[in-house]
Amino acid sequence: MSNFIVRKAAVLGAGVMGAQIAAHLVNADVPVVLFDLPDREGDPNGIVRKALDGLKKLEPSPLGAKDKVAYIDAANYESGLELLRGCDLVIEAIAERMDWKHDLYRKVAPFIAPHAIFATNTSGLSINRLAEPLPAGLRGRFCGVHFFNPPRYMKLVELIPARHSDAAMLDNLESFLTTTLGKGVIRAFDTPNFIANRVGVFSILAVMHHTERLGLGFDTVDALTGPLIGRPKSATYRTADVVGLDTLAHVIKTMEDNLAADPWHKYYKAPGWLQLLIQKGALGQKTKAGIYRKDGKEIKVVDLGLQDYRAAAGQVEPEVEAILKLKNPAEKFDKLCAHSSPQAQFLWAIFRDVFHYVAVHLGDIADNARDLDLAMRWGFGWAQGPFETWQAAGWQAIADAVKQDIAAGRAMAQAPLPAWVFDGRQGVHGKAGSWSAKESADRPRSALPVYRRQYFPERVLGEAQDAGETLFENEGVRLWRTGDELGRRVAVASFKSKGGAIGPEVVEGMLEAIARAEKDYSALVIWQPQPPFSFGANLKAMSGFIQNRDFAAFEQFGKRFHEMVLRIKYAQVPVVAAVNGMALGGGCEIVMHAARTVAAFESYIGLVEAGVGLIPGGGGCKEIALRAHQTALATANKDLMQTIQPMFMTVAQATVSKSALEARELGFLRPADQVVFHADELLHAAQRTALGMAEAGYRPPLPPRGIRVAGRPGIATLELALVNMRDGGMISEHDYKVGRALAVAVCGGEVEAGTLVDEKWLLAVEGQQFIALLQTEKTLARIKHTLETGKPLRN
Ligand code: NAD
Repeated sequence: MSNFIVRKAAVLGAGVMGAQIAAHLVNADVPVVLFDLPDREGDPNGIVRKALDGLKKLEPSPLGAKDKVAYIDAANYESGLELLRGCDLVIEAIAERMDWKHDLYRKVAPFIAPHAIFATNTSGLSINRLAEPLPAGLRGRFCGVHFFNPPRYMKLVELIPARHSDAAMLDNLESFLTTTLGKGVIRAFDTPNFIANRVGVFSILAVMHHTERLGLGFDTVDALTGPLIGRPKSATYRTADVVGLDTLAHVIKTMEDNLAADPWHKYYKAPGWLQLLIQKGALGQKTKAGIYRKDGKEIKVVDLGLQDYRAAAGQVEPEVEAILKLKNPAEKFDKLCAHSSPQAQFLWAIFRDVFHYVAVHLGDIADNARDLDLAMRWGFGWAQGPFETWQAAGWQAIADAVKQDIAAGRAMAQAPLPAWVFDGRQGVHGKAGSWSAKESADRPRSALPVYRRQYFPERVLGEAQDAGETLFENEGVRLWRTGDELGRRVAVASFKSKGGAIGPEVVEGMLEAIARAEKDYSALVIWQPQPPFSFGANLKAMSGFIQNRDFAAFEQFGKRFHEMVLRIKYAQVPVVAAVNGMALGGGCEIVMHAARTVAAFESYIGLVEAGVGLIPGGGGCKEIALRAHQTALATANKDLMQTIQPMFMTVAQATVSKSALEARELGFLRPADQVVFHADELLHAAQRTALGMAEAGYRPPLPPRGIRVAGRPGIATLELALVNMRDGGMISEHDYKVGRALAVAVCGGEVEAGTLVDEKWLLAVEGQQFIALLQTEKTLARIKHTLETGKPLRN
């Protein structure tokens, strides 16, 4: 396969999806030309410019760093088409109308470069029909790429080949979407709404059908169909409001128009009440009213009985909730099925009809059951796909129950379950792969080379998993290695504590892991199998010390923590931190001391100790002072405050980065640290980086001698800002006290400006300030409150 290089991309359509896809491309350093119709008034690129302004305001942000938006050029189809010639990838994301898309394809085709890939982000129109007006030479390079909203955060992209799509082109695009954009790619067939929307929308229709049949409230159904059954908080009806009720109706209509022979066809219709809301212009979140409406502070919900909005309440019956909390899935389904309350019957019915639906349709809509399950996890945020849920609950028992309900006319359709369901199997996922109804065989995972970069791809239930070989283990840390060539050279340390919390056992485990890596390996990677990287010091483990006011024990732990970060920094082999998700407090301090960090794009890094009335006590303040010194050496005016001031504000406000790119802007990541877009490639990238450093003859840095600190004048400068904030009522007296302690620590103590110190000195100053704060009642109250409630206390 020759290299597929995307120097520049074009996105056609600057609407909700087009603008956000463009944003994610520039996040990944792919410059973009974003097109829309010419604006008839003023600037001809006005529509795109408005969309770019919108991107900067959208929450959660589609941009990993605000300044990236500068790499999106605005264009229109009248004067800008020549710009298309310079693009290697063109993604169309205009309104969902076959005729409009066809018109546009005729217009742009002559300008698409002879090697470029052309892909459509349609939600469900036929890719083969869309391809019809394309010239023969372009058809081989055309396919569907279906992103989910919001495209930065939703992992799923469905890749849909058309009849003439070139196989190597599809492989290239799949690899690009995976590694460069960090997406989970699932290949889908050219069937209406593809996989995730087909099943997801049917699931919504089933929920709507049973809501009405059992006379439940929309709010009650949302309480039932959210986290309690492993689905997002927005559950069903709130999700519909977020998506837009008109958009939902549109996707349903695609199924109505194109699936006439489907056994569930009569349900492919927006219910009357939904059509009525749309007619009234209540389209959901975008029109401020839909199934839900906010009246002042009160949230109201449509009540079908009242034909009006009423206050939303939505309670799950305690007995039903107890069933849903059962750990054993077989028992859970047994009890749901047998319980007579409408809530339990509702839940059984929505699961049953989806099981029935996916079994009947698996062969036409997906290559195999794993693809369908992962599509539902990544596209709809379900914790498990429907086949996994079925398999976990006991394949045969569920199959028999579904069959009985079909026979008794209780299921939504009469179509029998396919014969393979009853061939004696225990499920559809196993060690040999996942069941393909189309091929009547178990299918292994894709052999595309890009997936060799994923040592631990997200697995479905029942799939084989290689856990690697353990080298050493204590209560806090597992030192292990992967079974491949890289594993022979690079050891991996993973924290065993919940949320990667760092207590004494993690510190001791890390000290041992480093010693072993130095002895037997070329490098060490710190990586966690699941995000977060670490929520920071284990306050819970420390609460004993706190309750007994045993500050000496605390001080001792602090000293060992310092030893650990210094060992990380000065180990004889490179220690690389592989971060995914949150790295807070102590977790961030480990990152700051690693020889290099490789961070997943969705990394949220920060020193948040101020929230509990403390300052970073694990070398974080020391690193800020040291980095200020090192940066100042390289600048003309040698000003330490240039680094200290912004980092002081960041730490004083407990700011956490909203992406790895922002972590770099905030100074937690260094310019040489790497960003990886696909979290499942993180371990591989970190191992490679670590080995590369070792191969290049890695030596730890020499401990800096003569660190110049800002001292008293620096403290005074920072204090001035604090005084203003306190007197302006923006911060409390205790915030001021915490801020001042931080100022002292990052300025190297109350010494003359320009005093030369070493790391030991800086750590001692940091430690003193930390312990002094810990001895204040207000800090102790903050810690206690956070431990009890998980929330910060302002005092
Ligand atoms: P949108 O309405 O926000 O934006 C559509 C854009 O198309 C607008 O900028 C508009 O100016 C432009 N446009 C309209 N008519 C046009 C024409 N005749 N020629 C050229 N441009 C025209 O829509 P969206 O939600 O961004 O959807 C775009 C595509 O993405 C659709 O195919 C949709 O099905 C698909 N999609 C949407 C979502 C979603 O959640 N919104 C998710 C996945 C895929």
